[in-house]
This record gives sequence, structure tokens and C-alpha cells, in this order.
Amino acid sequence: MSEKKDFLRKIVEEDLKNGKYKQIVTRFPPEPNGFLHIGHAKSISLNFGIARDYGGVCNLRMDDTNPTTEDMRYVEAIKDAVAWLGFKWNGEVRYASDYFEKFYEYAIKLIKMGRAYVDSLSEDEIREYRGTVKEPGKRSIYAQRSVEENLELFERMKKGEFKDGEHVLRAKIDMASPNMKMRDPLLYRIRHATHYRTGDKWKIYPMYDFAHPISDYLEGVTHSLCTLEFENNRELYDWVIENLELKPPRPYQYEFARLNMNYTVMSKRKLLELVNKKLVSGWDDPRMPTIAGLRRRGYTPEAILNFCEQIGVAKANSVVDVAQLEFAIRDDLNKKAPRVMCVKEPLKVTIENYEGYEEIEAPYFPSDVGKEGTRVLPFSKTVYIERSDFEENPPKGYFRLTPNQPVRLKFAYIIRLKEVIKDKNGEIIELKAEYIPNSKSGQDNSGIKVKSAIQWVEESSALKAELRLYERLYRAENPQGIEDLNPDSLKIVKNALIEPWIVKTEQERFQFERIGYFFKEPVDYSKENPVFNQIVPLKDSWAKKSKSVPKEQPKIKQKAVNGGKSGEMAKLTKEQEELYENYLKLGLSRQIANIFARDKELAGFFDEALKCVKTEAAAVANIVANDVARVLKEGIEIEPKDVATLAKLVQEETISNKIAKDVFEIMIKEGKEPLAIVQERGLKQISDPKEIQKIIDEVITDNPGQLKAYKEGNKKLFGFFVGQVLKKSGGKANPRIVNELLKNSLTQI
Ligand code: ATP
Ligand code: MG
Repeated sequence: MSEKKDFLRKIVEEDLKNGKYKQIVTRFPPEPNGFLHIGHAKSISLNFGIARDYGGVCNLRMDDTNPTTEDMRYVEAIKDAVAWLGFKWNGEVRYASDYFEKFYEYAIKLIKMGRAYVDSLSEDEIREYRGTVKEPGKRSIYAQRSVEENLELFERMKKGEFKDGEHVLRAKIDMASPNMKMRDPLLYRIRHATHYRTGDKWKIYPMYDFAHPISDYLEGVTHSLCTLEFENNRELYDWVIENLELKPPRPYQYEFARLNMNYTVMSKRKLLELVNKKLVSGWDDPRMPTIAGLRRRGYTPEAILNFCEQIGVAKANSVVDVAQLEFAIRDDLNKKAPRVMCVKEPLKVTIENYEGYEEIEAPYFPSDVGKEGTRVLPFSKTVYIERSDFEENPPKGYFRLTPNQPVRLKFAYIIRLKEVIKDKNGEIIELKAEYIPNSKSGQDNSGIKVKSAIQWVEESSALKAELRLYERLYRAENPQGIEDLNPDSLKIVKNALIEPWIVKTEQERFQFERIGYFFKEPVDYSKENPVFNQIVPLKDSWAKKSKSVPKEQPKIKQKAVNGGKSGEMAKLTKEQEELYENYLKLGLSRQIANIFARDKELAGFFDEALKCVKTEAAAVANIVANDVARVLKEGIEIEPKDVATLAKLVQEETISNKIAKDVFEIMIKEGKEPLAIVQERGLKQISDPKEIQKIIDEVITDNPGQLKAYKEGNKKLFGFFVGQVLKKSGGKANPRIVNELLKNSLTQI
């Protein structure tokens, strides 16, 4: 169960405690007029989740009272989606259409009670008579019909004696109600249409507001959860149940905020339009926000459910950033998807001084994931690397292979360029290189420094693969319709190369090193013709693009960062002098101001970081001058904004300085945002004095010897106690508060 209880779970708990219900019954009631989308996943996770958490059951009910749009194909798709998410519905799938007879009987009951009448106004007249929010409506003259007349007309409506729209059945409530829904709402209408389950049997169909509460009641539902748009319908829901004088227990309706997400449309009508106009390949197109689409794309049920849990349940509408969904899948796959080699745009490299063949054992996971296992990578004289991992005329800060810069083939050797081969158009078609024999990964004693390690595949064993790369389906943050579609949402790479293990294994999801997470295309993949869907790139490339942060930024010179002893440094120029003074004014130390004054790129990174997030300059500068400088040298990309956010987390005492170091390492390894790392790993600093005092008390009890020595005057032991408390808290206790509390504790004891 989620630790934080939402308002619905609180209601359910209260109802169980008070004995209002013996068992909780919820239901998920989709209309089978389309595939389910990620918004429905939220409702599923909520309804099934509550039932699971409180020992109840959840029904799956097709809300199929509208004969013109529903289809058995959608019923199957809905069952598939719910089962794939991992939920089991209570008993058989239920259908509102199975209750048609019951609805009819209840309608007769209302007529007999004088609480419903057959109205014969036209649709336009009904609307006119209803009034407005400001003015009361007026009742139709037909409301005066006798019970007998109503029963007779209703019977004839049922028999199909009238045309669509000629008559309707309405509840007799209050034409002056401030709630428009209560102004004699429609209960039944005539529809000459074939229903996908009941065929032509029925000529009248119940309205949602009549069918829904009765369906809930018949199934013994206790909590009928729906989205906020139905808030005004609640009064009518209650009216139906109360006026039919149904035997308790009865269900109650509660509303929660629907899921809205940027760059996404979440209306079955609009999704159907995409399918019908063939703007996507179908309901399960991997770009669709449908559960079937996400599934085909390679999303896991766990990621979707984690996402639903993270966004939570509230009573106010809001728009969730689609990046949060992407975060959830990266987070899940980071722990599940083995790292493998794929080259998107292969460039041939002939290693002239290598003869023969060998097999290199390479791990599936980086060490911090904590999962075991290796596979074998063939290696020979001819390999392919990513075209973009070689630059003949590298821009500053380019850390991969260049004419003067060697690079490591990941898990294998360092190679150095010998010659560039071009075709007659000047296009690079091959590189000749040499390898450094004693540079093999793990046993490297070559002494050669490289700035990065790149992916590669060996020629004779590599397999050709197709990659389908997806971007967001819509380019507008708040898309309205097909005019907002992103024309670049699908890109197909035909001639990628992959390492052989990928096809041999039964595994379906992988991290292609330095590219992204990929999934064996469920329909089109075969061993002979491997096709992969990109589930999600490694980093949020969209955010980067829209903020137009240059890809290789910033470029840093090692020399400037190390600084050397100040005595050995060249004098600052006039311009640098000015910068230096400015950095001092910002509160930076002399040493760091000196580094930034000399190093434009590092300073640029710092300035950018400060612009992104408001926080203490010195804290940001410290991280930039130390940690950022180090990793940029290794060719690792890092966002100024993330660094500033990290500094802010420390400044706000959300995390300690020590934990910040760990977070930074995870940031660069996994390309995640600091806040996400802190939340997900529970690294939040403990600042609650009560909690810290408890740890202090334990430490003091555990160390009587030291305590005695301290009391006898060995004040140096104060540091020992601080250290013990921090250690015991897993580095999470706020050192400032530990210091304060410890002073008192040690003197008072
Ligand atoms: P759409 O408006 O996308 O066509 P709908 O509400 O018509 O969806 P239904 O099949 O009636 O679709 O929905 C079934 C259940 O899913 C309902 O209880 C509804 O409240 C819930 N639901 C639909 N969309 C969302 C959403 N975006 N967020 C949360 N719950 C949703
Ligand atoms: Mg609906």
C-alpha cells in the first residue's frame, strides 16, 4: 500500500471502522467505445488498488448503454489492458446491458410513484424550458400526464411505436433547482439502433445518470469513484437511489481529479479520429497514450502503476508533465534492462595491428545497479562505431575519437586513429586505427588517458537491426487536435548494428548503451529481421532541445580547473581581473573566483546554473569547480540546472553535503534529476529534532566508555559522537541539528 493515504482511502477506512460496510466493493466502468488510455490507468490503479488494500473486490463493468458506439472488439481490448496491468476483477466481466430489464422495472416503479413522466417536447423545447444557470426553468405541460397514461406511453416507446426523439422519460424533480442536472433530467430515450450485445431487442435506452447508480447498487458497490466532471451528477445519483427506496446498503459517489498530461490528448473521441484517419497505425501504435500503445512501445505495467502512484489522487485538476511518465519507465528499466551494444549509424573501423579473434566478457549492468551476469562480446580486426563518435575537426570539448585523441572501445581496448578513408564525395567511409595491446579494460597498464568510452560492434558477428525512434505524438504542450501533431514523431533507422547476444536471449527490453531503452517490437520482430521500438531515450532530450542547451556544453580545460599553485599562474588580464572581482562579490572563495575568471566555459556553466535556479552562488560554485569540472573532462554530459538544484537541496537542508556527493554520482551515472534521486532513494535529510534525539540517545547508551571520558574532560570526543550519530542515521541526520542537540545531551547526562 502507498504510504501516503489519499482522501479516498481515508474515507474507505473510516467507513470500515464505523461498520458502514463489511466489505469494500469498487468498480471500474469503462464504456467499450475505444481503447483505454493512461488516464484510465489512473482510475484502474485507484479502484483496484483500494479494493486490494482493504480486502475488498473490484468489478469490471462495461458501461454499455449507448448502442451506437460500442463494440465487442473494445470489450476485449479493455479486458486485455486491465489484466496486463496485473489486476483481477471480481467474478465475470459485468455489462450494464445485462441490467436493461432491471432498469426498465425501476423506471416503471418511478412512474407508478409519480416521480417520472413521459415528455413529448422536442429536443430544442426541452433545452429551452430548462432555463439557465441564472433563471429557473419551467415544467413541460406533459408533466401533468396521469400515471396510467405515462405507463401506456412508456410501454409503447419500448415496443418501438415511436420515432427517435418523439418522447422521452424524465424524472419529476425540480425545474428551479440551482443544479441544472436536477431540472427534470432525462432517464430514457428512444433509439432505433442495433446494440452490440442485445441486438434489436430494445428501442429505448437508459441515460447514464439513471443506469449508473442502479448498476452500482445491483452489484453491491460501496464506493463509486468517478472524475470531477460528475460532481454535479452526484445529487441526481443520490436522488435515484433514494427515490427508488432501495434496501440498504447503498453505494455513494466520490469524485477525484482526472489525469491530464501535457503533449497528450486523452479523449477516446480524439484518439479514434487518429485511428480512423490513419494518422497512426492503430489504437496500439507505440506513440499512442493508450495502454495498448504503451505496452507495445515497451512500457512495463510496473512503470505505469508507479507513475499512477506518484501522481497521487487529489480533488483538484492539474496537468501532469509527460516527463514524469518517462521518468517512471527509465527508473523501472534502469534496474531491469541489461546494457548492450548497438550502433545506430555504423562507421567501419579497421584495427590494423590486431590479428585474430577474442571474446570479451562484459557485464549486463553497471556496478551500482547491483545485478550480476555477463555475456560475451566478440572482438576482431573490424568493428563498427557510431558515426558521431568520430570527428575529424572536433569542436572544443569533444571527448570522443579524433585524429589526436584516442578513445576506449567500451569493455575492450583503447584505439588511436591512423587514417581516414573517404569516398570521392569526401564522405568518410572507413577509419584505419591501431589498438593499444596492454590497454584492455580491467587490466589496463598502458598509462594512456582517454576522455570517454564508446559503444561498438564486431563486424562478423553483428546483426542488422531496424530501430523505430519515437518522439512525442504532439508538438503542442496543450494539443487541441490533429493540427498539433508532431510531424517527426516517428523516425526509422534501417541499418543499425547490434551485438549477437540480443537476438539469442529471451530478454525483451534492453538499454542500448548511450542511446536509450529498447523493446523487441512485439508484432514485427523476428530473429532474422530484428526490429526494436525505442521505449524512451536515456535522457529527456526534449527538454534539452526546447531549452536549446548546446549538446556538448560546456567545454572545459583540465589545466584551468586544476589551477595549480597561485604563484605559478599567469597574471590575470584586465578583463579577467574584473570577472574575478565580480565573483568575489557573489560570495565565491578566492580560489574558485580565480578558476572561473580564467576558464570561460566553466564560468559559463556556473552562470547558466545560477540562471536556472535561485540559490546561494557559493554553493553552486563549489560543485561546479570540483565535481562538474571533473566529470565534464570525462565526456559526461550534465545539466547546469540539475547542478543548481542539487546545491539548492543542500542549502535548504533537504539533504546533507555528504549525501549530495552521492546524489551527484548517481546523477552522472544515470542522467537523472537530483530531486528524483533523493525522493526515490529516500535520501532526504532528517531534520526532525525528536528523531535525531532518539539516535543520539542510542549512541550515548552504546558508548559508555567514551561518554565517561568526555565527561572527564576529553572534549575532543565530541567529534566522535557527531560521527557516530551521522553514521547511525545513514548519513541522513542534519549535522547542524546533531551538533546542537548533542551539546545539550552530553552535558545533561
Ligand atoms: P474519454 O473522455 O477519454 O473518452 P471516458 O470518461 O468517456 O473517457 P469511460 O470509458 O467512461 O471513458 O471511463 C471509464 C472510467 O475511467 C470512468 O470512471 C472515468 O471517470 C475514468 N477516466 C476516464 N478518463 C480518465 C482520466 N483522464 N483520468 C482518470 N480517470 C479517467
Ligand atoms: Mg464516458
